[in-house]
Amino acid sequence: MKILVIGSGGREHAMVWKLAQSEKVKHIWVAPGNGGTADEEKTENLPLTADPSTEEGQQALLEFVQAEKIDLTVVGPEAPLAAGIVDKFREAKLAIIGPDKKAARLEASKVYSKSFMEKYGVRAAKSKSFTDPVKALAYAEDNFKKKPKLVIKADGLAAGKGVVIAENFAEAKDCLSSFMKSGSLGDAGKSVVLEEFLQGKEVSILAAVSVKPGKKGVIKPFISARDHKRRFEGAQGPNTGGMGAIAPVPDFSSACEKDFIDSILAPTLKGMEKEKMDYRGFIFFGLMVHEGKCSLLEYNVRLGDPETQAVLPLMDSDLVLLCRVILDNTLADFLLKWKKEFCCAPVLVAKGYPGAYPKGNPIAINPTGIGRSGARLFIAGAQRGQGGPLGSGLRTAGGRVLAISANGASADEAWEKAYEALRFVDFEGMAYRKDIGREDG
Ligand code: ATP
Repeated sequence: MKILVIGSGGREHAMVWKLAQSEKVKHIWVAPGNGGTADEEKTENLPLTADPSTEEGQQALLEFVQAEKIDLTVVGPEAPLAAGIVDKFREAKLAIIGPDKKAARLEASKVYSKSFMEKYGVRAAKSKSFTDPVKALAYAEDNFKKKPKLVIKADGLAAGKGVVIAENFAEAKDCLSSFMKSGSLGDAGKSVVLEEFLQGKEVSILAAVSVKPGKKGVIKPFISARDHKRRFEGAQGPNTGGMGAIAPVPDFSSACEKDFIDSILAPTLKGMEKEKMDYRGFIFFGLMVHEGKCSLLEYNVRLGDPETQAVLPLMDSDLVLLCRVILDNTLADFLLKWKKEFCCAPVLVAKGYPGAYPKGNPIAINPTGIGRSGARLFIAGAQRGQGGPLGSGLRTAGGRVLAISANGASADEAWEKAYEALRFVDFEGMAYRKDIGREDG
């Protein structure tokens, strides 16, 4: 069997690592991949000729899949999904994992996803959507007469820059003016959602989805995970793409899980069926949990990064088989199996991240040390260079450079193993958080 994975992050490296373990797989192309996917067994990077979220880029990939007779395509990031790559491939009778363009709006438009949550009774923060900046401003002004904070969300995809938690009216005014009037996010900020601020601890639930018009749908949740989004220890400093993840989340009880299934998963599934979505792929539920009750902050229509790097190492089922049953609508009969362990995956970032950072620094890796530690590296922003000091040949090429992912019998053991393995990796300016997976992290 031949597979194409689209994407270039740590999430895609983890997916490729897991897919390659299946005996069914002969070869995997990763478009464009990174310095880590280039090194995986049975795997080869495929340079992109055009962005896969453009018509030209999708056409090039489609022709490649047809020419190479690739059996399955798996899409990592949201942008190609929002641009309708699944519709295009399915029209050409090609097997592809992901939501159709209509379903991808659950992530691509916050105005749409909030209206979906409301229509189907998914528990979420109260909110109101605006296209008129004057009305949005008046709503914000009124909010601060009663409440200390307001969450402002740009409607469209904004690569993590579209959510601002305003602490006073002046901040809200600046943000609304920048999103809606100055167009700082382009069209993504022309409409906004103004949402009540929720207290609590965040939990991410990744899940497999098999919903096809006319058939009974299924969503099977994976084990829970937690990303640590702030740059510094104790959840301080600016937001990032994610500084590391733990799975499962020690404080996410089975009662919370039941509440999630009843209040969020079940109504979401009902809504997907009613809206006649063709959603055969993965979904991510971003939750806020407070006093045992879950509220939905957002849907992502793909696996999360870095949660995937902590969740897939615990999966005991064959990921290729899981993709098959998702596509064939037989997910209901599939037994998802998990190791009774924890996985901790801190991310190593470049100096200066999430601001400006240098690129091209050689990465020294001691493969024997890593091998002995039992941890694994999932490469993100790193490409093969001309040979690092220890011959790894990798050079930094992004802000989030790689994750070290380690399993352990307890959350503490996983934490210890991941941080122990960290001493076998080094590059100039290397930085990380020390509290990934810790209770106060
Ligand atoms: P991502 O980078 O995860 O795709 P995003 O830009 O799509 O994020 P959200 O996940 O909706 O946006 O929000 C980003 C972060 O803002 C959340 O992880 C959470 O920390 C915070 N947040 C969002 N909504 C709320 C809320 N209603 N109350 C409190 N915090 C919130």
